[in-house]
Amino acid sequence: VWANCLRVIKANIGEQSFRTWFEPIVPVQLHHNVLIIQVPSQFFYEWLEEHYVDVLKKSIYQELGHEGRLEYSIVVDQGNGQSKPRTVNIPTSRKAAYPAPGNNSATQVAASAQTASARNVAAAASAPANPDTLRNPFEAAKGIDRNYLKSQLNHTYSFENYIEGDCNRLARSAGLAVANKPGTTSFNPLMIYGGVGLGKTHLVQAIGNHVKATTPDKFVLYVSAEKFTNQFIESLRSNAVQDFANFYLLVDTLILDDVQFLSGKDKTQEMFFHIFNHLHQAGRQIVMTSDRPPRDLNGLEDRLLSRFKWGLTADLQSPDFETRMAIIQNKMQQDGIDIPPQVVEYLAHSVNTNVRELEGVLISLVAQSSLNRREIDLEMAKQALRHIIEEVEAEVNLDFIQKTVAEYFSIPVDLLKAKTRKKEVVTARQVAMYFAKEHTSHSLKSIGHNFGGRDHSTVIHSVQTVSDLIDSDKSFRSTIAELRKKFAGK
Ligand code: ADP
Ligand code: MG
Repeated sequence: VWANCLRVIKANIGEQSFRTWFEPIVPVQLHHNVLIIQVPSQFFYEWLEEHYVDVLKKSIYQELGHEGRLEYSIVVDQGNGQSKPRTVNIPTSRKAAYPAPGNNSATQVAASAQTASARNVAAAASAPANPDTLRNPFEAAKGIDRNYLKSQLNHTYSFENYIEGDCNRLARSAGLAVANKPGTTSFNPLMIYGGVGLGKTHLVQAIGNHVKATTPDKFVLYVSAEKFTNQFIESLRSNAVQDFANFYLLVDTLILDDVQFLSGKDKTQEMFFHIFNHLHQAGRQIVMTSDRPPRDLNGLEDRLLSRFKWGLTADLQSPDFETRMAIIQNKMQQDGIDIPPQVVEYLAHSVNTNVRELEGVLISLVAQSSLNRREIDLEMAKQALRHIIEEVEAEVNLDFIQKTVAEYFSIPVDLLKAKTRKKEVVTARQVAMYFAKEHTSHSLKSIGHNFGGRDHSTVIHSVQTVSDLIDSDKSFRSTIAELRKKFAGK
């Protein structure tokens, strides 16, 4: 009987869907027009009920007529890693409902199971197609593209080459815990957030690679939220949404990179919400990244955001100097690059934005060195970092103040530090000291020292003189205002 049912079903759905959802089913018993089939999991049962109930009823109706009935036997995961079949009879008319996570699903299902009357099933079998199909995103069938089944992992990302620092300690150790026991820690989902270039993709790829290496039979999938969205849109277009969903429901560890991309994309979010729920319920691991903390993910539905809180959220900060040093050294070793220590130090000092930029500078240095057949040295590094260093120098510092003021008063900058007491020089010197106090964090003593070794009382006197002049002398006041503009916004 079941073989005949399968024939009917096969004619009605896509081949891949058939293989995924019907081949694993084992017919157990046929007794008084009640056919019992065994399905591998609670999730599997829910899925059949939600998406194939019509075709199932149709096939049962054709085989067993009005009196026909279908019941499921679910192989229950005992939670200790071992599966033990337990028969739970569920009428086909029962609406799918998930028990709360952590509960023994078999008990719940058994408790709520009722015996359906044959008439109910027969009536449902002859009913028109499920009017809910539009609301239900998992409808419509076509074959899954097997290419999808690749993990999309980049093998160069590992925990070994992910340098640990204060900036990433929590995220890294949570990632390692998840990688060792996907789906079974309380870090599910694991959400990693942090600014651009701080190592989010590296870390979650490392998780994926670790899981893949330790449990090769499990399906690990890395996908950017952007690709997920594009695939989803494409599946809508080609009427293959169900295959899209089926495919994602096969995943054991799902890594979704840059979830902020889902902002404002309601349909895609809805699909992800369903997938998330099914996977989470089935004890699969979900790992996500975001460029901002979840609370700042505007345009993401609250119900989705609240799911993220089920697990652990960990952030990545900018690496400190020591971590930057270690990252450069690690990268050099990995790529067989040889750079003198003082250059490494210089780079780690100068490039403190993010790791990607640091790597970018390193790569451009290597490129230049091979292009010019010249060893990488400090000079070359300084040249390569010109644009970045110029920005640093453009900050208001003592040199800049002295230079600007000297220029304004048309005197050589050296005279500010010299002994001369010529009036124009004295005024310029006092003005420069005044701005040094205003714009830098130098102490009075340090300012005096930088003006030809004068003592701090001279600096106090200068600042006082300038302040007085600003109050009393209108043209002096406008001089100061003009100069101040040159330092403003720096
Ligand atoms: P994000 O996804 O946060 O924008 P990536 O993961 O792409 O950042 O990281 C940018 C680059 O920096 C990558 O090449 C990555 O390997 C490297 N990187 C980031 N953090 C580390 C780290 N802690 N150790 C080693 N390399 C790192
Ligand atoms: Mg990234």
